[in-house]
Amino acid sequence: MPARILIVDDMLPSIKVLAAKLSGEYYDVLTAPDGRSALDMVGDQEPDLVLLDVMMPGMDGFEVCRRIKDAPATTHIPVVMVTALSDTADRVRGLEAGADDFLTKPVSDDMLFARIRSLIRMKRMLDQWRMREETTLKLGFPLDRDVVVIDGTGSARIMLIDDSPIETSNIRRVLSRDHDSVTVLPNTGPNAGSVVDKVAKADADVLIVGIADESEDALRLCSQFRSREETRLLPILLIGGEENMDRLLKALELGVNDFILRPLDDEEFLARVRTQVRRKRYQDRLHANFLHSLSLALTDSLTGLHNRRYLNTHLEAVMQRMANTEKPLCLLMIDIDHFKSTNDSHGHAIGDKALCGVAQRIARNVRGFDLAARYGGEEFVVVMPDTSLEVAVAVAERLRAKIAERPIAETDSKEGVWVTVSIGVAADESGGATSEALLKRADEALYQAKNAGRNQVIPEPREGTRISWEADLV
Ligand code: GH3
Ligand code: MG
Ligand code: MG
Repeated sequence: MPARILIVDDMLPSIKVLAAKLSGEYYDVLTAPDGRSALDMVGDQEPDLVLLDVMMPGMDGFEVCRRIKDAPATTHIPVVMVTALSDTADRVRGLEAGADDFLTKPVSDDMLFARIRSLIRMKRMLDQWRMREETTLKLGFPLDRDVVVIDGTGSARIMLIDDSPIETSNIRRVLSRDHDSVTVLPNTGPNAGSVVDKVAKADADVLIVGIADESEDALRLCSQFRSREETRLLPILLIGGEENMDRLLKALELGVNDFILRPLDDEEFLARVRTQVRRKRYQDRLHANFLHSLSLALTDSLTGLHNRRYLNTHLEAVMQRMANTEKPLCLLMIDIDHFKSTNDSHGHAIGDKALCGVAQRIARNVRGFDLAARYGGEEFVVVMPDTSLEVAVAVAERLRAKIAERPIAETDSKEGVWVTVSIGVAADESGGATSEALLKRADEALYQAKNAGRNQVIPEPREGTRISWEADLV
């Protein structure tokens, strides 16, 4: 799908010129003649990028930008301010309003398209993460969305690759206004080889790279950062001279996020760093939310144990690993006895508490590398890698006793709620079973335990006994 770009300008000829250029590059072009209708369009049409004129009657570009960036639903849409003013103060005002970039008319086509491509690439990446967040919300998981609009000022971790002591100390001075921590690494010299490793380990918010005339390696370095997993999403800001323009534009194609020209203007530099910090923090929040929702999706919300979905995936993986090592693996299938009558006599809420109590005792009485999961309503499974049937039965017996020895949940009355469990144990000793088969065998053993009177542990019949039992049938 072509990217959609909204041009906002009160001068029709300006719109026409830009629209023609963008259509020529196969972008979908939307237009708006003033701030108000621009905001409506941003809300309705969700463009991938907004090119925004600064000087407009009524609401000016700064205000439009601020409103787009302050709304959680649109804050991720890149905004580029385009203006005839070349004053740095305006540039900075735009960036401080949250603009992702600021271009001065007449804009060279190379510059315009390089910036647009870079920003749209970033937007598409954020869209992916936002989509996951939407899915998470649709699935009914709560998310912390209060911090959707994110501040880029204050205590960022900056890595700076730069060989010029003067530039380095200048940058330190400027960034100290935001209390950013700055770590300087050399671009050339004997330690240059380990620079990529160092940045990859550092967990920085922004990487700044100063291009020096004699160093041809800055671009290669940047593409290395883009190809490594740990630094693939790390914002990179380049510093270069007017004479480096070709390489700076090329860098945007390579995935560098922004550049700034020497001589550095303090305010503009600080504003551009803040833009990158803000973006990184937004990205980090989406990522953290995703991991959080992933863990929610794999956790049983009542008991906090893993859920059946997780168990299925995990069991498959563990069995494969165990099959290669030829070590035995055991599985306990645990079911609460007469739980229906527990619910009937104490009510469903106390029943829930009892389930949590059982889950807790299970979790406390298995080893760290055993996996405990809620398998169904009042059924639990424990996967025990590298465990023989004898040991598994002993663990199951201890667990059964722990659950039966004292009340599992408190009630208003003194006695509390008592429950017992029945446990079936199955073993894969030769490494040849499938996970479904193993679960089924443990379930069959559980069924035997129920039949034998409940509150007991029954292992599946050993290979030898099963044959004689089958022989009896014949
Ligand atoms: P058995 O000894 O044969 O296992 O008897 P049982 O009553 O435990 O077995 P049955 O399968 O007939 O009933 C299971 C009960 O578990 C019925 C259901 O209401 C209860 N249950 C299942 N999930 C939950 C839950 O999340 N909370 C509560 N409170 N009860 C649940
Ligand atoms: Mg039961
Ligand atoms: Mg049951």
